[in-house]
Amino acid sequence: MRLSLKYLIGMVVFLSIMLTLAASIISGYRVEQQSLIGSALETNRAYAVKMAQSTESYLSMTLQSMETSAHYIAPYFGQENAEETLLSEADRMRKQTNTFNSFTIVDKNGEILAVSPETLGLKGKKLNSEGGREALKKREAFISQPYIGLTGRLIIFLSYPIFDSEGDYLGLVGGTVYLKEENILQEVLGEHFYEDGSYVFVVDNSGRVIYHQNPWRVNDIVLENPVVQQLIAGKSGAMEVVNTEGVEMLAGYATIPTADWGVVTQRPKDVALAPSVTMIKEMILKTAPILLISFLVILLLSNKIAQPLTTLATYAESSTENNQGGKINDVHAWYYEAIQLKKALNYSLNFFIQQSTVDPLTKLMNRRIMDAHLEQWTKQERPFALLIFDIDKFKRVNDTYGHAMGDDVLKYLAAAMLEVARKDDVCCRFGGEEFVMLLPETDRHVAFQVAERLRKKLESTISPCGEIVTISIGIAMHPEDRKDSTELLELADQCLYEAKRSGRNRTIDYATLKI
Ligand code: GH3
Ligand code: MG
Ligand code: MG
Repeated sequence: MRLSLKYLIGMVVFLSIMLTLAASIISGYRVEQQSLIGSALETNRAYAVKMAQSTESYLSMTLQSMETSAHYIAPYFGQENAEETLLSEADRMRKQTNTFNSFTIVDKNGEILAVSPETLGLKGKKLNSEGGREALKKREAFISQPYIGLTGRLIIFLSYPIFDSEGDYLGLVGGTVYLKEENILQEVLGEHFYEDGSYVFVVDNSGRVIYHQNPWRVNDIVLENPVVQQLIAGKSGAMEVVNTEGVEMLAGYATIPTADWGVVTQRPKDVALAPSVTMIKEMILKTAPILLISFLVILLLSNKIAQPLTTLATYAESSTENNQGGKINDVHAWYYEAIQLKKALNYSLNFFIQQSTVDPLTKLMNRRIMDAHLEQWTKQERPFALLIFDIDKFKRVNDTYGHAMGDDVLKYLAAAMLEVARKDDVCCRFGGEEFVMLLPETDRHVAFQVAERLRKKLESTISPCGEIVTISIGIAMHPEDRKDSTELLELADQCLYEAKRSGRNRTIDYATLKI
């Protein structure tokens, strides 16, 4: 493929369309990603708030029902036969609230008065767990930090104090939640389970995992997580984080004030961004036909723009061999650059043609064009007469009047030649002071007359140098004398030589030379 303007414009158009497409895809992709990230963060934030609120209201409801229970059992404290009532209340609390894995009623010294389920066999024993001891000390509604209970389970302990009507402390009601087993947090938090790698977890105020969809993560300390740090600082919000497995996550987080906990909901970033790939595909599919059409239209336009230049360039390329002047005029140059190029090309081509065909001194045709005519006419077997002239004693003119005057005499002779020549005759400067005339469709007799007319004209006129200048002439006929142009010229030259030899200022025709 030649690197022409048409192809270059086509390539530039193609490139610019591709770059525009790439730029709009990249920027569209970025904007889409930003908005996807923004909305995923917002969704997670709202979701975390909702989870926190559910947990919060569940915990306060639970504490409320424990408060009711505490009021209910307070009068039974210190009474005989209360054992049954306390046990059934513990059972009711465990089963009805569906919150606790175990429920205990404890007196102010920490002795367990009732326990559900009874199978735990803790009745009459001391409440010795971490959470229990702290609850007894605090004497208020209390949610403990996670700790390992007597049974080796990870536990949190929720409790409510029992006071009598005078406000004296009697003991507490307390329930445990086994964090690593099926528990109420799973019911509250686990209902919205995503299958795409999203998950929810709850931490306490020391960064310990209380709830996680993967039970083995419970009890892990995840303090290095920036989201957890925000929660410990008491803040709610949303941010981008990298989780412990190095996966980029979009996280929302919210605090649960009652328990001093925090909820984190996370969604993998690439899952959130997945729709942007679909968007890009759609964008490409939708813009492709429009781009294709615009590409074709622009290509058509660029072709139209390149057309005059392309044609001019083709003619310029071949103008050295053929005359393309006429064709160049046919080129439809419709804008500034093409118009100027066309003008310049026409001008230089004409100049070139003139230079290559015209003799600069006499303005007659030069030897080159004479040869062309000879070749063409002999090939066409066209009959013509060939006259060759040479100025007599021209050296002397030069020597006497100078070379410039010699030139003037040559011009003067050329003018005389043109005067006697007819429209179709070809007048050439053959060499220095030698000239040739080709007279088409002219018989010998007429050719001789033309030669004589010229010779006599000069003979009777004063030349620019102030003297009369004469010429000798040789004539040969095509095709009678010779068919070949070179031989014909030689023949005419022989006649010219004979004219010189026999005294100059005369015309010798080959027919007379033969005699
Ligand atoms: P002859 O009658 O034998 O032709 O004598 P001549 O002096 O003309 O001799 P010849 O033809 O050999 O000499 C040609 C002279 O023409 C030689 C050269 O100085 C002169 N001449 C050739 N071309 C030019 C030209 O372009 N300008 C001028 N001024 N003189 C030229
Ligand atoms: Mg000569
Ligand atoms: Mg001469």
